[in-house]
Amino acid sequence: MAYVLHTAMAIDKAVLHRDRCIEVPENVSYHDHWTGVWQEIPDKERAYEALELSPAKYKLKCQLCKP
Ligand SMILES: [Zn+2]
Repeated sequence: MAYVLHTAMAIDKAVLHRDRCIEVPENVSYHDHWTGVWQEIPDKERAYEALELSPAKYKLKCQLCKP
């Protein structure tokens, strides 16, 4: 099970997802200023760490996929 961190600096928010979450786009390499950056992370420990280290003010875990 991999994780995906979504960082959207335009709205100061970082959200951690599981890689199968319906909110995660098929092509996670796509990003821009408004949709933000989707970053694939292979293990849980690093995913949680990446969320902690995010410069975004709001650090959330997805309510849908509960990573
Ligand atoms: Zn999710």
